[in-house]
Parts: sequence; structure tokens; C-alpha cells
Amino acid sequence: MTAKIIDGKAIAAEMREDVAKGVKELIAAGGTQPGLATVLVGGNPASHTYVRMKRKACAKAGIESFHHELPDDASQEEVEKLIQTLNADSKVHGILVQLPLPAGLDEEQILRSISIEKDVDGFHPVNIGRLAQKGREPLFVPCTPAGCMILLEKAGAQIEGANAVVVGRSNIVGMPAALLLVKANATTTICHSRTKDLPAVCREADILIAAIGRAEMIRGDWIKPGAYVIDVGMNRVDDPSRERGYRLTGDVAYDEAMEVAAAITPVPGGVGPMTIAGLLANTLRSAQRTLP
Ligand code: NDP
Repeated sequence: MTAKIIDGKAIAAEMREDVAKGVKELIAAGGTQPGLATVLVGGNPASHTYVRMKRKACAKAGIESFHHELPDDASQEEVEKLIQTLNADSKVHGILVQLPLPAGLDEEQILRSISIEKDVDGFHPVNIGRLAQKGREPLFVPCTPAGCMILLEKAGAQIEGANAVVVGRSNIVGMPAALLLVKANATTTICHSRTKDLPAVCREADILIAAIGRAEMIRGDWIKPGAYVIDVGMNRVDDPSRERGYRLTGDVAYDEAMEVAAAITPVPGGVGPMTIAGLLANTLRSAQRTLP
């Protein structure tokens, strides 16, 4: 069997086009231009890159972005004060606080200070709590896990009743991905660093989501024949043959998995592009709510 490649880049591009169209329609209907505030605290180079990419994507979709940078030694009070100002700003429909925050800041308290109506990253404890509760719906769902679900649907995976395994239980990927699978009626197992016999657990998965951060940890013989595999991992592996000296690889041994799975996301070009597309879609949705 050769797995179908789930083309996240193409699916995300379609989503971004839909958002751009939605922005035009919103404005034509008398709504305001959607606005996303980005908050960057400190000088983490990767965070700077991510925020730059998000702002560029906003501009392409017709979403205005308002960028705010605070120094590494910004106080909790300063960050929360900025968020209060953005909560009250009617031009801002989404607030994105780029994580991770510098040590010493209370991440939970900062995320909690974002108005849930503007929580386009979906990390506010109330939104996550609603995601975890039966019969409740969050206003926003975290973008990377939401992207995983879209990729599964687009690939034609049967989610309801499937055995789903998520490897990783982080607040931003693994846990919300598992909660979304439960909401979609999959029988879901969450694995982590203390899971016993991980290969055996993975082999039961009709749907396997890997969000670990360990290059090619999941081998081909851990995968059930015909499984749908979503590889969230984004790992740098030294590669002197490349100009930049490294290549990006996922948490799944891609070539091996290709022989066994029904469908798989590549890295890069799988889950990665879905995160920004989801952020744009959430910001548009937030702005649409302001229509009379
Ligand atoms: P975290 O480090 O926060 O979480 C990793 C999880 O993997 C933890 O739950 C950890 O278990 C588990 N884990 C670690 N080692 C093992 C092991 N040997 N066996 C089983 N489980 C293990 O990472 P994130 O969730 O933030 O990110 C995961 C990956 O996804 C990274 O490669 C990251 O770069 C990528 N990523 C990609 C995004 C995108 O494509 N847009 C967005 C966000 C992340 P425990 O809880 O026990 O420590």
C-alpha cells in the first residue's frame, strides 16, 4: 500500500482564499475590516518569525494586523494592561499572544485576561473548558488541532467510532486534538512520555496523531495498515547536504509510514500551514459576530 499524501499546503491555501472572500463579503455587508492584534513579549527569534508569518498572511487575506512588542523583562501587569486595551478596542477582533512567554510571566493568567470573544487562538481556559465538556461549544478552537481535524475530514477518514490515538498531551496540540476527536465521537487514547508499550497502543489506531517533538519516533511497524496519520511534529535534523545545514522532519518515519498508512501528512506541508489558515478563519468569524 502507498499512502495518499494529505496536502495541507493546498487545503490551507483554499481556506485562506475562502477567508479573503469572506472578508470582502463582510465589508460589503456593512461590517468592519477584521483586525488581529499580535502580542510578542521578548526576543525569541522563532516567535518573531511566527508572528511575521501570521501578519503577512493577515495582509494577504485583507485582515488588518496591529502589532505590539514588549521587552523580555515586561511585567505581568504591563502585559495584562496591554491586553485590556486590546479587549476594549473595537477594531481588534482577535488577540494573539505568541507563546512561549518569557519565564516569570504567568501564562495562564495572561491567556485568561483575553476576552473570550477575541480568543482566536482558543487557549482561554473557558474555551478549553467548553471543549472538554459534553454539550458545550467553545467560541474558538485552537488552530493546530482544528487543522488536524480538517485534514482528516478532507482525507476522507471515518472519525466517528474510530480508534484514535494521540501521542502528546500538550495544552496547545495534543490535549485539544484529543478533545476534538472525542467530540467527533472517536474512541480516543491519549499517550505521553509515561505510556507503556507505545508501539502496541499506536498499532490499534485507525487515526494516529503524533504531536511529540521527536524526529521520526513513530516507525512504520507501529502503524495499523490503512490508518490515517497526522504528523504535527516539526523537528530540525542536521543535514549537511542542505544549504541551511538541516532539514525539517516530523515525528513519524514518513517513508516507512507511506508503505502502511491509508493517508499521511508530510512535513513540511501538512499540518503546519493549517495553523495560520485557522487563525485567519477564527479572526474572520470573530469579526462576523459584530455584524448587527
Ligand atoms: P510539547 O513538548 O509541549 O509536548 C510533547 C508531548 O509529547 C508531551 O505530552 C510529552 O509527554 C510527549 N512525549 C515526549 N516524549 C515522548 C515519548 N518518548 N513517548 C511518548 N510521548 C512523549 O510539544 P508540543 O505539543 O508543543 O509540540 C509537539 C510537536 O508539534 C513539536 O515538534 C512542535 O514543533 C510541533 N508543533 C507544530 C505546530 C504546527 O505545525 N503548526 C504547532 C505546534 C507544535 P509528557 O506530557 O509526559 O511530557
